[in-house]
Amino acid sequence: MADGLVMTTNSGFDGRSFAGSFGYGSGGGAAFLPGLQRTLRKPVQCSGIGLHCGHLVNLTLKPAPADTGIRFCRTDLNPSQAWINATWDRVSDTTLCTTVSNRHGHSVATIEHLAAALAATGIDNVVVELDAPEPPAMDGSSEPFIDLIESVGAVVQPAERLMLRILKPICVEDGEKSAALLPCERPTMDVAIDFASPAIGQQRISLVLAGMAFREELAAARTFGFAHEVAYMQSKGLARGGSLDNAVVIQDDAVINAGGLRFPDEFVRHKALDAVGDLYLAGGPFLGRYVGNQAGHKLNNMLVRAVMADASAYEWTATVGPALQATRVAAQ
Ligand SMILES: [Zn+2]
Repeated sequence: MADGLVMTTNSGFDGRSFAGSFGYGSGGGAAFLPGLQRTLRKPVQCSGIGLHCGHLVNLTLKPAPADTGIRFCRTDLNPSQAWINATWDRVSDTTLCTTVSNRHGHSVATIEHLAAALAATGIDNVVVELDAPEPPAMDGSSEPFIDLIESVGAVVQPAERLMLRILKPICVEDGEKSAALLPCERPTMDVAIDFASPAIGQQRISLVLAGMAFREELAAARTFGFAHEVAYMQSKGLARGGSLDNAVVIQDDAVINAGGLRFPDEFVRHKALDAVGDLYLAGGPFLGRYVGNQAGHKLNNMLVRAVMADASAYEWTATVGPALQATRVAAQ
């Protein structure tokens, strides 16, 4: 806590909501709310280096029919084995990122920043074509994917979006780390981290996912890593595409990126971004309070699995109470 970079934040902890919209079509502000399902207005493409594989990756987001969900299609594979559903039960690895696999053993890694962008823009149905085993890292945040989606906009579809309402507290633990989902009529993120390095230290953020909250408070927060771990990670085949262009890098307890941090507490904001992406793999937006304490992809997926394993812990709902209805008014 002695370092000037360390900041504990309670931004949004008073439960404030953020008025505004995503600024396109009739669905503005529709993310994290019930209503009609949405897909992209038309295909849109981007390219960049994969964070872990280190290859140039071409990615295309394509409109998809109602009730498709998020489906990856690896164009570098035999078409009969190329499809991979981005759902909680297909998560096969959570080492540093979230990886989903199909029954043929083919996978897509590092899907969480794209998944968070889809959650934040209220996109329910999309086919994600890519020619490598992970999306481009872009700048290490969700912002470029949101910009990409907003560049073409969204259209509503003739099918109801259902929300995962949490009915009772579910908590998973891994040593001192924990993640929980609690009943709450407004989708809320409450995330805390505690790193030994004074460049990070203890940080906490809490905010209601309403209106522009994700876009303004979380979307631009980048992934991060320690320089001394990079060689080890690369020996494991990870972080081969990692650079100061797509991650915050800490060396000798200081951030070495020339531009510094985007937020004083960028690290905890990124953890909240990751959790939004991981939770979206449940199959829709959640209605509850997420509480993460030093949690990561492993605990986030354990949490979704624990909820799904208990039929009394949740319901899929198209109706919301007065609190969220008020949020909807504020968001439009
Ligand atoms: Zn991340």
